[in-house]
Amino acid sequence: MMASRARHALQTLLEDRVKFDVPMSRKTSLRVGGPADALATPRNREEMVALLELCRQHHLPRTWLGAGFNLLIQENGLDGVVVCTKKLRRLEARPGPTVFAECGVSHASLTRFCVEHGLAGLEFGAGIPGTIGGWMAMNAGIGDREQKDVVLEVETLSAETSETQILRREALGFGYRSCAGLEQGAVALSTLFEVTAADPGQVKAEVDRLLGARQTSQPLDVPSCGSVFRNPEGDYAGRLIEQAGLCGERLGGAEISRRHANFIVNRGGATADDVLGLIDRARRAVRTMAGIELQTEVRILGRMSE
Ligand SMILES: Cc1cc2nc3c(=O)[nH]c(=O)nc-3n(C[C@H](O)[C@H](O)[C@H](O)COP(=O)(O)OP(=O)(O)OC[C@H]3O[C@@H](n4cnc5c(N)ncnc54)[C@H](O)[C@@H]3O)c2cc1C
Repeated sequence: MMASRARHALQTLLEDRVKFDVPMSRKTSLRVGGPADALATPRNREEMVALLELCRQHHLPRTWLGAGFNLLIQENGLDGVVVCTKKLRRLEARPGPTVFAECGVSHASLTRFCVEHGLAGLEFGAGIPGTIGGWMAMNAGIGDREQKDVVLEVETLSAETSETQILRREALGFGYRSCAGLEQGAVALSTLFEVTAADPGQVKAEVDRLLGARQTSQPLDVPSCGSVFRNPEGDYAGRLIEQAGLCGERLGGAEISRRHANFIVNRGGATADDVLGLIDRARRAVRTMAGIELQTEVRILGRMSE
């Protein structure tokens, strides 16, 4: 519960760009999750810095929100301020050639921009839903291609000191679906990507091929958060869950997808507890069958249930 002094300060700073007690089911692709105390959408960097200062003064925890494609928020909701980055969306071709993108730029805008400008190298990201900030925090990728292969540098803003820093790829600590450089509360403000000049038709053809492949392998017509578990070394979480006989397993409105067993889909009216219950079932079944402990890829945040 947020103190009324803090609520008032947020409202004075952000006016209608802050909302209170916002159900996170409306802000995440799984469509589950209880209310955030506050959801703030700063309109530019200066406002983001002022918001962080206010959070420090009032001891409010912060959570960064990109497009919510990899978040599972507990039914009891989230303490503090969820900071939505979607207004920071400058996107430019720069010398090198390189592409500069602010954290709130969507994957779709970036892909379209690269096609239009004939810039190759980022096609593998086509269809990985989210924002550039979310891509950095998750080192998003597919197959053997990840952000760490194409990022030159990321500009970060510390939530503790409001200092900005330019971190080169090697200093970011990218790992499998993780980025150590962003784990201590820093927000990724912008990214500079390495690209090469190419024929726009060729870039488009590769993007179309990858989007087509996703249509057939993933359940894209129902709410989900993509892969729930990380793939264990040398195997696939989806293959193990399928082998454990859990395809189509249901709990409330949540279901382990028949098309891709590493996806949990919301068939309508699912709660966070339904999804967490299926995560637990899949973990136990795979542990019993193969002795492998599955780790979640989806970020689970919020107040735990009693
Ligand atoms: C249908 C579907 C398919 C998917 N396929 C793939 C795939 O092929 N490969 C893959 O890697 N992922 C995949 N995902 C997962 C998702 O697309 C990625 O994890 C993506 O990076 C999430 O971006 P987002 O902006 O939605 O991040 P969010 O879900 O909003 O946030 C994810 C994490 O990043 C943090 N974060 C967000 N913005 C910032 C920022 N600016 N600075 C610091 N931290 C930040 C958040 O606090 C959170 O911890 C898929 C998801 C879906 C629903």
